Amino acid sequence: MEAVIIAVGSELLTPARLDTNSLFLTERLARRGVEVIRKVVVGDSQERIAAEIRRGREEAHIVIVTGGLGPTLDDLSREGAAVALGVGLVERPELVEWLERRFASFGRTMAANNRRQALMLEGAETLPNPNGTAPGQYFADDGGVLMLLPGPPREIKPMFTAECEPRLDRIHSPYKYYTVTLRVAGLGESDVDHRVGPIYSAESRADTTILAGPADIQLHVRGKAAKADEAKQIAQAVAEKMAAELGANVYAWEDEPLEAVVGKLLRERGLQLGLAESCTGGLIAERVTGIAGSSDYFSGGFVSYSERAKVLWLGVSASLIAEHGMVSEQTARAMAERARDHAGGPTGAVGVSVTGVAGPGPDAAGNPDGLVFMAVADEADTVVLRREFRGGGRDRVRQLAAQYALDLLRRRLLGLV
Ligand code: AMP
Ligand code: MG
Repeated sequence: MEAVIIAVGSELLTPARLDTNSLFLTERLARRGVEVIRKVVVGDSQERIAAEIRRGREEAHIVIVTGGLGPTLDDLSREGAAVALGVGLVERPELVEWLERRFASFGRTMAANNRRQALMLEGAETLPNPNGTAPGQYFADDGGVLMLLPGPPREIKPMFTAECEPRLDRIHSPYKYYTVTLRVAGLGESDVDHRVGPIYSAESRADTTILAGPADIQLHVRGKAAKADEAKQIAQAVAEKMAAELGANVYAWEDEPLEAVVGKLLRERGLQLGLAESCTGGLIAERVTGIAGSSDYFSGGFVSYSERAKVLWLGVSASLIAEHGMVSEQTARAMAERARDHAGGPTGAVGVSVTGVAGPGPDAAGNPDGLVFMAVADEADTVVLRREFRGGGRDRVRQLAAQYALDLLRRRLLGLV
């Protein structure tokens, strides 16, 4: 099945705002086997909105409009849709009441223009909006499905998941789809493609998409068949072959980030994590603490950037740094060990460190930019990884270093290094 997305809003045609809703929608639709064949951004013009909806309905079974459902006069998606469909707009008393109650609950009276948000396309179903004043609309006829959804991301996302996805599942399609996600660390996109290409090309009933981040590759394998369990079998068989080829580089079989996988391993092993970050400046701590419940296993971290911080805060020996340098295997090792000692933990602790040159250009000691040492110290041993990340600049070096450090920790916790 195919879809067209129409993002409405003149602000989206300026450099000030980006249409991000279509990215969210595309991802959610792909999971259900719906392919977005075109998306467009259109300003707040009733004629242009109507023209885009008409064109969309010729091209695809599903048309999704985001934005333009606000109370102000420049919010014209309702009117544009009515023109395109050739149906009227009717005020629904229950929506007027709901809007009035919503305003009253905030101790405010409703402004007259808010009544426009109670205008519904004749024949449309109301999609409740618990996070705002613009109800969504779901209209289905022989020409396909049209959804009008609010613009603010915090409103459209829960509405789409709760209201639209179950409706999409009921649209009759001759095919069922099933998507398996594999997440891969420690390999570049072309390496991954080179290794798994022959596997996915051999199965015409599955589509594989590769999404690449810094040393973080996602493989989405979508099986397609007449029956749901057949689609699942096809996708899983392809994913299993790919996973066998990629081995320990596969860190998750779901859409789960590396820090969540590492968090589960730390929790299972009852270990406390301590960090000592230099060139990543807290990026690893930021990722680790982005996972709910991380206080169970994350003790804390040092952003030990200067030599002084490495020596006085962390406790790395000044003579060791003098001998080997700030960016060295020995300093990375000592940083991880001190981070581990500071983390404590009654059933053991593990320390992770990063020291390197983010660039641009070499550091004062002449180390090239992109040179990074990452270390993991547990009670038994310390392992160090040396990498030279070339190209892409400072941000990329820092992101790669954080990813490789987390992956080194994962491999250590699994006994792979
Ligand atoms: P609207 O529903 O048109 O009143 O949109 C309200 C606000 O939601 C706008 O000011 C934008 O900041 C945001 N918004 C609208 N459309 C999008 C979109 N496609 N992607 C991201 N944000 C959006
Ligand atoms: Mg708008």
